[in-house]
Amino acid sequence: MANYRLQLYCAAALSFTISLAAQPAPPPKRAKPVHSIEVAPKATASSNVEKEAAAKTPAPPKEPAITFNSVHVDGPYIAMTFDDGPSATLTPKLLDILAAHRIKATFFVLGEMVAEHPEILVRAAQEGHEIASHSWSHPNLAKMSQEGVRNQLQRTDDEIKSATGKRPTLFRPPYGSITEREKRWIHDEFGYDIILWDVDPLDWKRPGPAVVRSRILKETRPGSIVLSHDIHPGTIEAMPSTFDQLQAKGFKFVTVSELLEMATPETPHPKAEAAEKTDAKAAPYAVPASSPATNKE
Ligand code: ZN
Repeated sequence: MANYRLQLYCAAALSFTISLAAQPAPPPKRAKPVHSIEVAPKATASSNVEKEAAAKTPAPPKEPAITFNSVHVDGPYIAMTFDDGPSATLTPKLLDILAAHRIKATFFVLGEMVAEHPEILVRAAQEGHEIASHSWSHPNLAKMSQEGVRNQLQRTDDEIKSATGKRPTLFRPPYGSITEREKRWIHDEFGYDIILWDVDPLDWKRPGPAVVRSRILKETRPGSIVLSHDIHPGTIEAMPSTFDQLQAKGFKFVTVSELLEMATPETPHPKAEAAEKTDAKAAPYAVPASSPATNKE
């Protein structure tokens, strides 16, 4: 009897394991990042049955990415991002231009600027743009205490929530400067993905609209995250023709969160599960995920 019950127990445990392993990997949900590293079924299987079941499931990512310079996508999708605002005069102009081109952008705003112009942020949010955090007053986080960083982020998070009714889910560190340890605890504590960029027209140096435009047109690829600032007149001046030409090239504009949702696997690892089925092609435009920490942004 005891032996029978043991067998029954084992069978139940095995079928439970199989059903667990057969679960599709949880979809990447950006709004509330899941720590799939802890809950995802293990790729290593000890029995043939489990191996077979596991083979039907795409191998879960070893470590979910929390930092993005660009996104691997199947399609001509890009995200325009504008930092350091909102500006009282330039951001409304930009919003007009974006509306005329039917483009949704992402604004990485400073809390202290939001406190001055909450109505501009309300308009941006109402018009479908994504509002994300860029700290309160643009300090170099890599040189700050954890408490100082937390204060910068919490105040900004609260200010955005109070203006738009919604908390941000993305964060861009000023100057792109952030330590690995900060990325991790900021992601764990605030749930933010850390968004950098792969296209930088260096518009903060105010090189003139034509240069801003040509740099963006030259560097932008599918999946690009384009960095710009809605506090420089030349940047705003460059945008109508930049958008025209990007659209003429077939690019489609989405917010950063939408771009992250579209992420497809990059070139599969040679040793990846044979059953890992993906249509993703090797990306000729793949950008190294190094942090452009030296850029003035
Ligand atoms: Zn900035």
